[in-house]
Amino acid sequence: MRKFRCKRICRPKVTIKDLDRRPPSYADRWAPMLAGNGCSGCMACAEVCPTGAIAFNNSGQILFKHDACIACRACTDLCEPGVLILGPGIGGAVTRSELSYVGSTDKASADEPAIRPLKTPGPSKTIKIFAKSMHVREVDCGSCNACELEIAAISNPVYDAERFGISFVASPRHADVLFVTGSVTRQMELALNKTMAATPSPKLVVAVGACACSGGLFGNTQFAGAGVDASIKVDIYIPGCPPSPRAILSSIRGLQRGTITRSEHDHSR
Ligand code: SF4
Ligand code: SF4
Repeated sequence: MRKFRCKRICRPKVTIKDLDRRPPSYADRWAPMLAGNGCSGCMACAEVCPTGAIAFNNSGQILFKHDACIACRACTDLCEPGVLILGPGIGGAVTRSELSYVGSTDKASADEPAIRPLKTPGPSKTIKIFAKSMHVREVDCGSCNACELEIAAISNPVYDAERFGISFVASPRHADVLFVTGSVTRQMELALNKTMAATPSPKLVVAVGACACSGGLFGNTQFAGAGVDASIKVDIYIPGCPPSPRAILSSIRGLQRGTITRSEHDHSR
């Protein structure tokens, strides 16, 4: 009987090596953006958006808030001139304001999408201590569990987060990083604060998904808050509903490499 060779079936080496170099997939193109200058300013997109992720200012510019976008595509479907298209979302950011940008209705072009972050990172220091080893505790604060599925996927053989030293642990006492999902329901506020207190310093907090970044579709009510940063300080925001495993992994890798720098939050209180 022929010897079983799993490498010949799933070819993990090829997949893993190519992961960082692959162009964005369909799942990575989820956020609305302007392509072309044919926007009529009808504001239909802003009116249909269920989470207020699109707004117009007095100058007629569109403000896209990727922290709140749930990728429902209602805005792009409704856009009559067809200038609102789906583009790559902002992968990860150290402040919420970096997840918003102004799309000028005058200057946008299909060749050069008008992605202009409102704010650049301020003084920050690169976290190098987690560069080769990072233990993660996931905290579900009221998510629909789709974010959990994508987080779990970074450990599968395709994304293989363990090759970067990223592994999941069962207790916050063993964790370096907290992945927090959900808009933080009232019942989970205390649990989140206790988990934070049980995690030894230095530590990082990563808000994963639109709910965790802004409250998303289920937040901002009497039962749930406006995201993780309403309860504890957040170091990295990863938008999307849910963010793809690639977006999650590349943001964490950016942190490890130092290409994403974190705000200097004091978690030692
Ligand atoms: S895709 Fe949906 S949530 Fe995102 S901006 Fe458009 S309407 Fe709003
Ligand atoms: S961001 Fe989207 S996928 Fe993640 S928990 Fe919220 S609703 Fe679910």
